[in-house]
Amino acid sequence: MSKTELDVVRKNDNYTVEITGMTHEGQGVGRINNFTVFVDGAVTGETAEIKIIKITKSYAIGKLLKVLKSSADRTEPFCPAYKRCGGCSLQHVNYEGQLKFKTNLVKDTIKRIGKIEGAVIHDAIGMQSPLNYRNKAQFPVGQGTNGPAIGFYAKRSHEIIDHDACGIQDEISDSIRNKVKAFVSKNGISIYDEAAGKGLVRHIMVRTGFKTGEVMVVIVINGNELPKSKELVEMLTHGVQSESQDEKEWKVTSIYLNINKKNTNVILGEKNVKLSGNDTITDYIGKYRFSISPHSFFQVNPVQTEVLYQKALEYAQLTGNETVFDLYCGIGTISLFLSEKAKKVYGVEVVEAAIEDARKNAEVNGVRNTEFMVGEAEKVIPEIYEKGVKADVVVVDPPRKGCDEVLLKTLVDMRPKRIVYVSCNPSTLARDLNYLESNGFKTVEIQPVDMFPWTHHVESIVLMTNSGLKGK
Ligand code: SAH
Repeated sequence: MSKTELDVVRKNDNYTVEITGMTHEGQGVGRINNFTVFVDGAVTGETAEIKIIKITKSYAIGKLLKVLKSSADRTEPFCPAYKRCGGCSLQHVNYEGQLKFKTNLVKDTIKRIGKIEGAVIHDAIGMQSPLNYRNKAQFPVGQGTNGPAIGFYAKRSHEIIDHDACGIQDEISDSIRNKVKAFVSKNGISIYDEAAGKGLVRHIMVRTGFKTGEVMVVIVINGNELPKSKELVEMLTHGVQSESQDEKEWKVTSIYLNINKKNTNVILGEKNVKLSGNDTITDYIGKYRFSISPHSFFQVNPVQTEVLYQKALEYAQLTGNETVFDLYCGIGTISLFLSEKAKKVYGVEVVEAAIEDARKNAEVNGVRNTEFMVGEAEKVIPEIYEKGVKADVVVVDPPRKGCDEVLLKTLVDMRPKRIVYVSCNPSTLARDLNYLESNGFKTVEIQPVDMFPWTHHVESIVLMTNSGLKGK
């Protein structure tokens, strides 16, 4: 043990600590004798009694024993499994407090990492009703002490907790989970054992069409066939209704087996075998119609997706004459959304299957001014720029690691009038905005949008304009 550790904090000792901030993952942060301590479940402004459970060279981890002075933002978590589940991380904070947390996180990060001054950073746009918003549920199936356990993985573990009601997923998902559980128990169907790699049923995936009420059920199995599958189909197509007061009319219109015989953490295997119904379910974002298959990428919060895309449209300020790049375009959802107001939209995405979906989606929606390309944005864009293709407006929506510098450099050379940056990670966003600001772009507005209520995740959308300066 180093001297500092001995001097300032000791493992297993209790301390009183003031929580002065929160990490980007929603842990409370405080200091004991000037040594940083992270406390799960503590909120900014609180005073807490904690027990030190881990010490490293630069920080300690405290377990929350008692809140001595409570924040006005604290609330009672609505889910009984909250403490054990790895899903929601901010259920001990009320919704207003969560939005405040997300706004502040974006503000702090943009200032600290991005060193950006003068941009307007708006308050996060929340949901009117932030419950049951997810259109995709993935329940792991395991052996419980009393029959199958179907629910969720415990925090930082692969232990499966049996749980019958998740408040952030569409309510129909729980009804289906319960039906499948009863079916598996009744018929003595074997359950997958991760350690041994044996047993049949691994996961239940439920996908829902928010606007259509169509439901897809996928049973992931370690084998080729599910015994009594006709009975299951019958049960799901005729017997499923939401068990709550949910007003929506749900209908199971597509049932699949997914074959996954590999001993991996990846939920879906490559092969899908349709048991019943349609190949895909349908949903709409705005007026655009999308077909969703078991493997398709589709944003999980349909209500907020529309809010986000409307912002993208607003920030893009299209008049009908612009060439637009939609980079990291997935299945082309943003491309279609922008197509009506643009002259031409080029979508670029690295996953080939997503590009095939994007092309189909454009066709189904009668959109003719989009063109989709498979490849890494940092390879495709320099290539087509070299050939003389330029954009007036560029939208980027990269994964958590942000944009590759080669791409950013090409955008700097290309100098579009506007860049609209959609990001799920404020840190890499701030880094990339800093690069672009140093090279002649100006951050005008940043709008955080809450796509994932009760979790610490925050999405932001940014408008940058070409400042006309040459840059450094
Ligand atoms: N804009 C889409 C998808 C955003 S998710 C939507 O709103 O639905 C980010 C996407 O970037 C994923 O589809 C991922 O496959 C893709 N991606 C990851 N790295 C990439 C790269 N280097 N070049 C292009 N696309 C990439």
